[in-house]
Amino acid sequence: MHATRRRLLAATAALGTAALLPGPLRAAPALLPPAKRGRVAIVGGGWGGLAAARRLRELAPELEVVLLERNDAFWSLPLTNRWLADRLDGRLLRHDYAAAARAFGYTVLRSEVTAVDRERRELRTADGALAYDWLILAVGIRDDYRAWFGDDARPAAEARQQFGSAWQAGEQQALKARLERFAGGDFVITVPPMPYRCPPAPFERACMIATLFRQKNLKARVIVLDPNPMMQGFARVFGGQYRDRVVYVPQARVQAIDPFAKTVSTDFETFRFDDALLMPPQQAGGLAWQAGLIGRDVNDAAKASGWAALDPLTQRSLADPRVFVVGDMVDRASQLFGHYPKTGQMAARQGQIAAAQIAAEAQGKEAPRRLPDSTCYVLAGAEPMEMMRIETRYRVRGDGLIMQMVQQHYDAQPRDEDVAWAKGMFAELLGPAAAG
Ligand SMILES: Cc1cc2nc3c(=O)[nH]c(=O)nc-3n(C[C@H](O)[C@H](O)[C@H](O)COP(=O)(O)OP(=O)(O)OC[C@H]3O[C@@H](n4cnc5c(N)ncnc54)[C@H](O)[C@@H]3O)c2cc1C
Repeated sequence: MHATRRRLLAATAALGTAALLPGPLRAAPALLPPAKRGRVAIVGGGWGGLAAARRLRELAPELEVVLLERNDAFWSLPLTNRWLADRLDGRLLRHDYAAAARAFGYTVLRSEVTAVDRERRELRTADGALAYDWLILAVGIRDDYRAWFGDDARPAAEARQQFGSAWQAGEQQALKARLERFAGGDFVITVPPMPYRCPPAPFERACMIATLFRQKNLKARVIVLDPNPMMQGFARVFGGQYRDRVVYVPQARVQAIDPFAKTVSTDFETFRFDDALLMPPQQAGGLAWQAGLIGRDVNDAAKASGWAALDPLTQRSLADPRVFVVGDMVDRASQLFGHYPKTGQMAARQGQIAAAQIAAEAQGKEAPRRLPDSTCYVLAGAEPMEMMRIETRYRVRGDGLIMQMVQQHYDAQPRDEDVAWAKGMFAELLGPAAAG
């Protein structure tokens, strides 16, 4: 296929505007004048993108850094469960991008990127095009409703609108309003099959929602349908302080969902719900698919893996040496353990690794080798407050494979260590003002 037509098709597929076809490719207006030296475009102002932007400015001040983000502000997902149960001031969750851009000296454009043209090294947005020398994609995840509903858009739209899980930054407000309206009955949470964003978070959310129901004296229970092996630590919590509030169902693989009749069927049972967080399988954000960065399934090479394939030692895309992929969107890191945990700190560390690679390349140096790490605080109860800390560290084995070491600590008397950790990360990502 002719390269120009291929580019136009790629751009059009992402826009979903078949009406643009056929026709000559018109050059989109440039969003910014050409860069004087090299330009790094970063798509996604979440944990991965923000960390990459800051580190690039520190390591390679000669490069121009442009961050493109569709949301009006940075919204933290960490701490949202605590906030849902009224145990956190919500102002800590939202932060402006402008202060970060000023503090670190990069440009932020509020824009949805609709396509990546890798041949021309150009991004497409509704407002114009942006040329890049290097690209970092940090677009997070998307829900794969097709796994449940195939091409039937009606139930998918109903599931998303009425029973969405608020697993994306900025969606938590709508969930809080829903929880406030909930008058009682069964509240179902379908945990997605692994890998998914923040493995302990559905269980933490179940506990916090149950806390809220108890506080409001509602005749209500939370039913958790889990298709994965049970997460260490939660058996005790569900059987302890939440035994009258949380029903945990193991081996609960979703077979069918009817969002209109409000039913979920697993291999063994059908559950009727009054409200729900319906979480389908997850996969890399849409732009990774449009850009052709998705890997192959390890068990079936004919199938897409669903995630962006990378060299885990550099974060470089396997499809394009000018493109780096970071955060929750990335594919398996090692044959030994599969995916890195999809956490905020992990995404930030990966963003820093990609930044160091680009800075070194621009300066003709060798990049230092570093592996990411993750610390994750999980509330495992509110009355009394109980917390878990999951530390994940990595090293490269003699044969070149990355090894994972996980340690889980339990704390029966926490003193807001999760809030202190988050404030530290906000200051790192967004500048000192974000620590509140
Ligand atoms: C309830 C919950 C609790 C969590 N708790 C913790 C915790 O305690 N600790 C922890 O470490 N992690 C936690 N996480 C996980 C953490 O939030 C994620 O791992 C982290 O957000 C991943 O960062 P990311 O940069 O990959 O993606 P994101 O943070 O999702 O950032 C992606 C960004 O890209 C933007 N974007 C996507 N597509 C486009 C486009 N086409 N154009 C422009 N912009 C685009 C999105 O708007 C978004 O801002 C939690 C997650 C959830 C859901």
